Amino acid sequence: MSFANEKAVVVFSGGQDSTTCLFWALERFEEVSAVTFDYGQRHREELKVAKSITEEHGIEHKVMDMSLLNQLAPNALTRDDIKVQDGQDGELPNTFVEGRNLLFFSFATIYASQKGAKHIVTGVCETDYSGYPDCRDVFVKSLNVSLNLALDKDFVLHTPLMWLDKKETWELADKLGRLSYVKEKTLTCYNGVPGDGCGECPACRLRQAGYEQYIKEKEREE
Ligand SMILES: [Zn+2]
Repeated sequence: MSFANEKAVVVFSGGQDSTTCLFWALERFEEVSAVTFDYGQRHREELKVAKSITEEHGIEHKVMDMSLLNQLAPNALTRDDIKVQDGQDGELPNTFVEGRNLLFFSFATIYASQKGAKHIVTGVCETDYSGYPDCRDVFVKSLNVSLNLALDKDFVLHTPLMWLDKKETWELADKLGRLSYVKEKTLTCYNGVPGDGCGECPACRLRQAGYEQYIKEKEREE
């Protein structure tokens, strides 16, 4: 598929996944802009990282205030007094914010509509999804239909990472020629440490394990 003369909006957090999506989009679309949601993340560092990556690449960057999310769901990503924990016994991890992607993707699409962009790109992924229901492919497809009906347009929601595990996401960054950039410049860590992160939190462990797996395979092939 070629989208050479079309515009895209990337839902962008400055993390590994959405930065890989940003580079994926830059290869495909004539014009790319990024939107970041400020929902009172306890690590303001995320917003700084998102800003510096977009600035460095000359990408228009819109930060949208979504602090209203905290009225609904105070949780471990926004509150200092709640520790990040993995889900226990089939429960969702406490980093889950109900309906977050529903709201983010809807806002991103309305923004895209105003920019005359047909494409919306998100780093959402079912493979490592920890049970978040609004990371599922079926949800994104359903929302795509709803948004098209709501706005009477033909948007395309792209999810290039949907079926990739963390190892394959690193592989994609490498194919895009951005492996070391993504490793060094992005922020995934729940403790707000950029690059390789704190090494302790669930996000760092997942990211690191995927990276090591990818590098090992790559070395074997060389
Ligand atoms: Zn960490």
